[in-house]
Amino acid sequence: MNASLRYYGDPFLREKAIEVTQVTDEIRELVRQMIEIMETKNGIGLAAPQLGVLLRIIVSNAHYEDENGELHIGEAKAYINPVLTNPSDILVERSEGCLSIPKLYAPVIRPLSITVEALNLQGEKFKEEKSGYVARCLMHEYDHLDGILFVDRIKGRKRSELEPLLLKIKQHYYKK
Ligand code: ZN
Repeated sequence: MNASLRYYGDPFLREKAIEVTQVTDEIRELVRQMIEIMETKNGIGLAAPQLGVLLRIIVSNAHYEDENGELHIGEAKAYINPVLTNPSDILVERSEGCLSIPKLYAPVIRPLSITVEALNLQGEKFKEEKSGYVARCLMHEYDHLDGILFVDRIKGRKRSELEPLLLKIKQHYYKK
């Protein structure tokens, strides 16, 4: 499979992805390609639908955020069939971007922390509690699995202001 990044306007970004039934070599190869593309594009997370693959897989290399708010990047990790629970009552507004929506950054309100359960590349279940920008990254990528983009979470006038930029991005990047 030769995967390539899908951009805003691509219908694949609006589809709901399905669960992985078995973690096979093919899935591991897909994850390898996802990590390669994420790192080539200097991203901190990527979801399979962004490559036109409608499977519930996300990857991220965001490890932790220190007390100064600096995000530490490490070895990339896969979350297969992720489930997010326990969103904190505390909500935080911070700027986000997306590899599928190049050069557009806008603030999004999300819970501060989250619990994630998923399968690893061996098909084993694991569970992590994440907070700060790492949690935000996982929530952003998780949204992609349901066809939701971060700009959808921006409402009202702020969203309207983004429309001309989104149209430009669609015209420039999305190739039918
Ligand atoms: Zn994204």
